[in-house]
Amino acid sequence: MTKATFTPRVFSGIKPSGGLTLGNYLGAIKRFVGMQGEMETMYCVVDLHAITVWQDPAELSHATREVAAGYLAAGLDPAQSILFNQSRVSQHAELGWIFNCVARVGWMNRMTQFKDKAGSGAEKVSLGLYAYPSLMAADILLYHATHVPVGEDQKQHVELTRDIANKFNHDFKVDFFPETIPVIDGPATRVMNLRDGTKKMSKSGESDMERINMRDNADTIAKKFKKAKTDPEPLPDTLDGLKDRPEARNLVDIYAALSDTTSEAVIGEYAGAGWGRFKPALADLAVDKLAPISDEMTRLMDDPAEIDRILADGAERARAIASPILAKTYDIVGLLR
Ligand code: ATP
Ligand code: MG
Repeated sequence: MTKATFTPRVFSGIKPSGGLTLGNYLGAIKRFVGMQGEMETMYCVVDLHAITVWQDPAELSHATREVAAGYLAAGLDPAQSILFNQSRVSQHAELGWIFNCVARVGWMNRMTQFKDKAGSGAEKVSLGLYAYPSLMAADILLYHATHVPVGEDQKQHVELTRDIANKFNHDFKVDFFPETIPVIDGPATRVMNLRDGTKKMSKSGESDMERINMRDNADTIAKKFKKAKTDPEPLPDTLDGLKDRPEARNLVDIYAALSDTTSEAVIGEYAGAGWGRFKPALADLAVDKLAPISDEMTRLMDDPAEIDRILADGAERARAIASPILAKTYDIVGLLR
């Protein structure tokens, strides 16, 4: 069988499971903007993933609009990228079901994020939380997406997407779904929790002090960096000197990502500096970069009808790509429709 070729297409998404964090900005949104214009880009607000854990209905719709506002404020342009929310395109759930029948329970049992999120209460979490990587595979493959920009924490799920595509192609003797490439690059693919450098920063994390929210004001950002856990040592003169200093390394990486440079260059500039110098510089830089985006988000959130219009228009364009791919999938599987 000759290998099919697939049009380069980017797909990625963020869950409206709370307010956007600096981790979401540096690990996802900023990189989404960077890929816009390079190839076809589709960015989704993945609300069906958010409800794998309890979401208050009124807060969910607000958070969905807020993630969309974050996309727009950071520079995603609805004329260049397809921006939409997942639940508006019912094909995601339909292909998700088919993939539930392709993915193996043994594969799902290896997902480290499920283990982290379920913790000791694995019997009590929703079935959706367990199955969510298979819906994520559907999100991506519904558009035959070839490139998926994500943070380091999503690498395993994109690899599972490849496994699902391969098994589907193999079982049905087709070359229908592409092998998706996870795009994980830059200095901030895993922004860590400010209070514990071994855990990633998350919007659903327990304490507000462990994360920078994109809509935090300047005082809050300064306070959070000031209180961020570090060690007593000044910054070393090589990156190697940060090997066993996860909290220090995290702040250097954040600085590098915010200023579009490398962590080596930051160390070059701040070698020997103490936290009393580095932390205020980092806070100023973060405020500089985040404040304009946050202000624009506030402006956009004043007109929710306009956000809804953009999301509905994006969903229509998404459906136009998804429908023939889902129809062909039904055909391959032998489902009558
Ligand atoms: P939740 O706590 O609800 O899982 P989250 O902050 O982990 O929220 P997601 O919606 O799960 O955010 O992830 C959206 C995107 O942001 C993904 O591409 C993910 O890899 C990326 N991302 C999330 N947290 C970080 C982080 N700390 N550093 C870098 N990228 C991140
Ligand atoms: Mg997450």
